[in-house]
Amino acid sequence: MGGPGVTATAAFVERLRAIVGPAGLLTDPADTAPYLADWRGRYRGEAEAVVRPASTAEVAAVVAACAQAGVAVVPQGGNTGLCGGSVPVGGLRQIVLSLSRMNRIRELDAANNTLTVEAGCVLQSIQEAARDADRLFPLSLGAEGSCQIGGNLSTNAGGEAVLRYGNARDLVLGLEVVLPDGRVWEGLRGLRKDNTGYDLKQLFIGAEGTLGVVTAAVLKLFPRPTATATAFLGVSDPATAVALLSVLRSAVGDRLTGFELMSRLCLELVLRHVPDTADPLREAHPWYVLVELSDSGDSADLAERLMDALAPAMERGQVRDAVLAQSEAQGESLWRLRDSMAEAQKAEGISIKHDVSVPVSRMARFIDEASRALERAFPGVRIVAFGHIGDGNVHYNVSFADPAQNAALIEDSEPVNRVVYEVVAALSGSISAEHGLGQLKREEIRRYKTPLELELMRAIKRALDPQNLMNPGKVI
Ligand SMILES: Cc1cc2nc3c(=O)[nH]c(=O)nc-3n(C[C@H](O)[C@H](O)[C@H](O)COP(=O)(O)OP(=O)(O)OC[C@H]3O[C@@H](n4cnc5c(N)ncnc54)[C@H](O)[C@@H]3O)c2cc1C
Repeated sequence: MGGPGVTATAAFVERLRAIVGPAGLLTDPADTAPYLADWRGRYRGEAEAVVRPASTAEVAAVVAACAQAGVAVVPQGGNTGLCGGSVPVGGLRQIVLSLSRMNRIRELDAANNTLTVEAGCVLQSIQEAARDADRLFPLSLGAEGSCQIGGNLSTNAGGEAVLRYGNARDLVLGLEVVLPDGRVWEGLRGLRKDNTGYDLKQLFIGAEGTLGVVTAAVLKLFPRPTATATAFLGVSDPATAVALLSVLRSAVGDRLTGFELMSRLCLELVLRHVPDTADPLREAHPWYVLVELSDSGDSADLAERLMDALAPAMERGQVRDAVLAQSEAQGESLWRLRDSMAEAQKAEGISIKHDVSVPVSRMARFIDEASRALERAFPGVRIVAFGHIGDGNVHYNVSFADPAQNAALIEDSEPVNRVVYEVVAALSGSISAEHGLGQLKREEIRRYKTPLELELMRAIKRALDPQNLMNPGKVI
């Protein structure tokens, strides 16, 4: 473990142990190792201890002790983040503060349609608690079995239902936060209307742990849909997919819950690397769209509605071929093609990843312009493009099929990033749609925010965390 000197570290660790008890403190390298490396294995850090408090009072006492001792705090949820935000940077005295033991559901208010949860609740357990109450908590993403709501809120996670329900930011009514000096902001209000000045909770959402530790939240619940209809469509290009999005929205309105795009290459990677997957369509198509509708009522009626909505597009040739799931299991196997993209890419080899967004109306232009520019700069380059096109968000990953050529590309990713991000910027997009900045894009973002934006962000950081002890080296 890193630190200033054995005695000071030992005394500080004992102080923390007195707050959280032996069950709440890890110092053995075998125990701390999983907390000190990120999910992708790209970042690794050191800490004087991993502290696992079991209550807000314990979090507050730990953070206050750190503030007094000048030790930095790295909040950590499920450690599934993809930008290195949840592991320590080098060269500082710091602890990892894991919220995993704070995993209680505090209150279900069925009439208010809210659920009050602690930050360490795993996302899936929250979805299940909502389902048990015949409600829906719509946040849903590939890591939902291990990511925690505190991490979801701190990264303002997106996922697969943003089109209808919004990002994590849109699903919160109140927060409880331990501030960098150890004071507790009690903002656990369940109000849908509260116009009493600055909306403080929004500062902490998406702050990636740089302004405070989220310890609890009041979440919005929604009516649980009883019907779903899922279809997998072959289309010729992203522009057609975007046009189809408008057509479907007009036809089915808010029932449109998912609209995901993937290229033929994406599907091929899944078929090659993920067991028990099959091409759902008879012939190959350049691009595919996975569509999901959800509603109250009956699935058969909804499926009919989806087919009615697609029929004119099929007649016009906008949709080249389509398969409609005939059962829940078939719907799941269509989603598996989309959800296995991360696994398939991992098996295929490393690539340079970009999680970017542009206005939906410019999505096709982005894919076209970025791909042409990359092909010019790196002839033969391979682009794996897929994502939540309904939200204007594409995961745009770049590699070479040849391992040696790929190794050289990965070694120096800067020129690739520049090509992609310059196209994003020219189309008024964002270089991080849903994964955040963390360590990965902390420097990069300085190019793409205006000086005024950076000044405002720094002013907020200074006002809340003047000692710069809350997750230093991340975001700004
Ligand atoms: C297979 C896979 C699929 C994914 N799919 C998606 C997707 O579709 N959409 C998407 O948006 N993301 C996705 N992600 C990324 C990741 O799951 C999300 O960013 C998630 O919200 C992180 O939650 P976590 O609990 O793991 O947070 P962590 O990784 O532990 O932390 C993330 C950041 O939040 C901070 N933090 C964590 N908890 C707190 C807290 N209580 N208070 C203050 N700060 C805190 C950390 O310091 C860090 O900066 C995916 C990841 C994987 C591995």
